[in-house]
Amino acid sequence: MGRAVASMVPPDGAHGAIDLDLQPHRACSGSVDHSERLNHMEALVLEKKLDLSLRDFPIERQEEKLGPRDVRIKLHTVGICGSDVHYYTHGKIGPFIVNAPMILGHEASGTIIETGSEVTTLKEGDRVCMEPGIPDPNSKATRLGMYNVDPAVRFWATPPVHGILRPTCVHPEAFTFKLPDSVSFAEAAMVEPLAVGVHAATKARIKPGDIAIVLGAGPIGLVTALSALAGGCARVYVSDLAKKKLDIAEGLNRAITGVQAGNDDIVERVKRDTDGWGADVLFEATGSPKAAARVFEPLAPGGCVVMIGGQPEPISYDAGAAMIREARVENIFRYAHVFPRCVAMLSSGAIDVRPLITRKFEFKDSVHAFEIAASAPPADVKMQIELPQ
Ligand SMILES: [Zn+2]
Repeated sequence: MGRAVASMVPPDGAHGAIDLDLQPHRACSGSVDHSERLNHMEALVLEKKLDLSLRDFPIERQEEKLGPRDVRIKLHTVGICGSDVHYYTHGKIGPFIVNAPMILGHEASGTIIETGSEVTTLKEGDRVCMEPGIPDPNSKATRLGMYNVDPAVRFWATPPVHGILRPTCVHPEAFTFKLPDSVSFAEAAMVEPLAVGVHAATKARIKPGDIAIVLGAGPIGLVTALSALAGGCARVYVSDLAKKKLDIAEGLNRAITGVQAGNDDIVERVKRDTDGWGADVLFEATGSPKAAARVFEPLAPGGCVVMIGGQPEPISYDAGAAMIREARVENIFRYAHVFPRCVAMLSSGAIDVRPLITRKFEFKDSVHAFEIAASAPPADVKMQIELPQ
């Protein structure tokens, strides 16, 4: 397969210019022949910032070795995440810098094609989705149940760990979840982003009838709104600058109200609708310092703010406004222990993510798919890539 190279101008550098050397260091270059250590498969490779190719890629045999408690999965559907796109356009996210070719993709579903000798819960032919972060099972964080904040976690498509836009992968049984027939591969590939919303709603400790606000109507904002409703909220206000995104939000559920930032003030709107009391929960899903600065204003006394949006730079918020409300502030990093809950809610219909899947591409068109994703079309929420079966 010939290299299809994408090149485009990065969006306005919200996170500053990249001045680091991002020249690719090819895994198979140099005078030593490592070919006996490498397996080759076609993969979507981020060579360096703004340089993607779909090509034959050497993968360390070690990574492809099936351990006794591992499964081998034939990938079916992979969602394009904002983080994949950010690596493509910026070459880094915070401290994670792409300085060698890396396979993208971490939102995935597929079929088990081989199981390790000690695997008991999964068998060949099972349809599954996968949790992309693998912690050290013996770390203190993991033993305390907070495996998502284990500093040793290896997360797909986070340098230097490869992602799964490739035909097969090996993954631990413990982080691979069987799908009921009622959940499609496309829905299952939405479990990873949905898990962020469900984890956020769990941290908020929502009570039935709560009023919630979600700042930001991107994919994470929308799955958070759905999770808040599934958690018992009576109404969820979703705020964003883009009218199209709010139309999508309101189309998901009649208990979702869109509030267009710039046109309507979320603080005034929520205060007006709640007799001046405010919202019980606010989810910050924009990652914007401007939005974060005002999170307590629409919040009710005793309310909770959950910070979801990625903050590459330090931000400030009004601690005095938090104090007079005795506000609780929660921070989340990815998710823990929620994949089976997400699958159960998709299966029962408690959450429907299908309206969020707005475009599908074939694997051979992956580079093109990323070019489109990087242009951030306003009417799109989640784009997915289907691998040949
Ligand atoms: Zn993701």
